[in-house]
Formats: sequence, C-alpha cells, structure tokens
Amino acid sequence: MLINLTDYFKTPDKTDKVVLKYEGESLCVEGCTYPVKAGDGLEIKLENIGNGQVRISGSGTMNVVMPCDRCLSDVDVPVEVDIDYTVTEPDGFNEIDDEQSIFMSGYDLDGEQIIHNELIMGLPMKVLCKDDCKGLCPVCGRNRNEGECGCDTFVPDPRMAAIQDIFNANK
Ligand SMILES: [Zn+2]
Ligand SMILES: [Zn+2]
Repeated sequence: MLINLTDYFKTPDKTDKVVLKYEGESLCVEGCTYPVKAGDGLEIKLENIGNGQVRISGSGTMNVVMPCDRCLSDVDVPVEVDIDYTVTEPDGFNEIDDEQSIFMSGYDLDGEQIIHNELIMGLPMKVLCKDDCKGLCPVCGRNRNEGECGCDTFVPDPRMAAIQDIFNANK
C-alpha cells in the first residue's frame, strides 16, 4: 500500500489520518515465517510540520502468530507498533537518512514496509503459550500440556525447562 505524500510535503499544516493496511499475510524473519493478524490496520497521522517535512505517527497492536518455545503450539503474540518518524521531501536540501529510505520510495510512503519494520523490531525474544508450559515429551514428542503420555522420563521441572530455553536460545 503506497501513499503519496507530495501534498503533505508541500501544503503547510496539512494534516490527515489514514489507515495503513498490512496486506502481507506473514512476516519472514531469519528463515521463519510467522502469520500476521493485522486486524483493521493501523491508524496513522500525517502532518506537514514545515520545511518540507512530514511527521508520520501512530500506534496500535497487531498479533503475530509464533510457536511456543517449549511446546511449539501457535501463540498469538501481541506486538506493539509505535510509529513516529519525520521524513523529508526527497528533493529537499536535507540528506535523506537511511531509516527513511526503508519505507519511503520517492514521494511514496510504503505502508507495508513501515509496519513490517516495526513488527520485526517488536518481536519478543521469548514466546510461551503460558508461563508453566510443560513442553514436549523428549521421548515421544507429545505435547505434555495435553496430558501425560506415560513415557519413562523424569517429571518435568520448571527449572529444567528454563535451562532448556536458555540452551535453545543459544543454539
Ligand atoms: Zn507451550
Ligand atoms: Zn512421551
């Protein structure tokens, strides 16, 4: 979704609210693909702040579906999207910074890209379906939250699960 910002760069005090739709159905990060539940999109404010600059701001929450670190079941992870950027007219005197070039192409704001960027930065390091998730049985692979499988293994100890998480994170 591209939004042309020409009018916002050139018209003093021009301000509007627009809804950015996230049409990408998933987020690809380091080889993993996570579905995104973007809901109705994100309302942002576009305002001319003078000197050929436009402020883009808005915040909201989107859900990214990620696997639980222990049992691998899908978890709806709410990710805060908090946008606040000032962009400069492309042929203005100011240098265009790298940050801007991620989601601006000429006079167009790439709504998809700016949200994508925020989602990536907002992803949690650790995902658990619940704090006391019992994880998978190391013998048969059954999800232990759904009941014991009866395999000959030690009783899951939450401290061990925490150590396991550290181990997994460093893999
Ligand atoms: Zn879990
Ligand atoms: Zn088992």
